Amino acid sequence: MTELFTDAYAQSRDAADPLRAFRDEFFIPQHGGKPQAYFVGNSLGLQPKGARAHVEEVLDKWATEAVEGHFTGSAQWMPYHELVRDPLARVVGAQPSEVVAMNSLTANLHLMLVSFYQPTIERTAILVEAGSFPSDRYAVESQLKYRGLPPQHTLIEVEPDQPDGTFSMQAIERAINENAKRLALILWPGVQYRTGQAFDLKEIARLGHAAGAIVGFDLAHAVGNLPLQLHDSGADFAVWCHYKYMNSGPGAVAGCFVHERHARTQRPRFAGWWGNNQDVRFKMGPQFDPTPGADGWQLSNPPILGLAPLRASLDQYDRATMPALRAKSESLTGYLEQLIDADLRDVLQVVTPRDVAQRGCQLSIRVIGGRERGRELFEFLASRGVLGDWREPDVIRISPVPLYNTHADVLRFANTVREWRDAS
Ligand SMILES: *Cc1c(COP(=O)(O)O)cnc(C)c1O
Repeated sequence: MTELFTDAYAQSRDAADPLRAFRDEFFIPQHGGKPQAYFVGNSLGLQPKGARAHVEEVLDKWATEAVEGHFTGSAQWMPYHELVRDPLARVVGAQPSEVVAMNSLTANLHLMLVSFYQPTIERTAILVEAGSFPSDRYAVESQLKYRGLPPQHTLIEVEPDQPDGTFSMQAIERAINENAKRLALILWPGVQYRTGQAFDLKEIARLGHAAGAIVGFDLAHAVGNLPLQLHDSGADFAVWCHYKYMNSGPGAVAGCFVHERHARTQRPRFAGWWGNNQDVRFKMGPQFDPTPGADGWQLSNPPILGLAPLRASLDQYDRATMPALRAKSESLTGYLEQLIDADLRDVLQVVTPRDVAQRGCQLSIRVIGGRERGRELFEFLASRGVLGDWREPDVIRISPVPLYNTHADVLRFANTVREWRDAS
């Protein structure tokens, strides 16, 4: 046990890490003259040093070419979103035509619900997890109200059946089957933001489709965190943001997936000119002729400055690759778990599933002793440059990110908790 807690041990794990060079590609906020142990990549990922060049390229092009920048030189703005399409498809395991970077997560969720939530007399219900992220809940509830359907009869919230608010697959299956006849749509997270639980998306899509429902996923906490096979999962649609694990900056342009089977759908949609077939877009005619695939849901010409940092991030994902990132992630989070089990069980309790297949980077950790103790520890950690985030009433979320966190960071968390415990 004592060896696990030594700098030498953590450093030897870091020395053997094939992805260790990526850390130098990020700006890491400083605390008292040394880098923070930054564990909030699940909230806002750190800035890749390469982001600035892409943003400056846009500013320079604007300065020198102005409107011509849409059609001339490199990284033209007209097809700018296509620059991110292929690498983004690789990150989420989709075909290029199935993904698009546009808008924000919640806006994309609304667009997807407009097209894919089509209630009939028999099927009106939307099934979500109880305790879902507020924005998702507001979006779903407002869509139900918009269609004149009272949420108290049409919103099904599946209660967690496991300790600490996690779900067994049986509970999800039961909820789907019990409501099979009235289900219109299932919206489920890839990784639940509060507990860090990861789900078998392919199985949920299979169960949902067997019940006759549309299945969509919110991948805010899954994209860039877990290897995804979105196309093979069979999901009808998915939405996510790029400012968490995708390191593309505050309010970054978000992502959206529409399965190939809906590429030429006749479903209703809220349309804009950027979704119109490129061949005729600038004929400016009255007829909306949607581009096949996810591109057809675009509304506006995209915020180029907002998209620019995503290029730097995707370049890193291409070089690091998701399988290698996942292997390192399992090593970092496994080490965190090991340290807690070895010496911190009297103060910390892991809420996230112990099964590696049911989690990503993040461990949600309950502080034993209640809210006051929890806040005290959280603030002590912050005062020592160890940054996690706080979830009421007593949970600290710690997300070691394989692109820039180290085993030494993880050890620093554990040793800082020990310091606090032993002093209090
Ligand atoms: C982060 C997050 C959001 C944020 O939505 P925005 O539209 O990007 O502000 C929504 N849903 C979930 C599940 C999230 O984790």
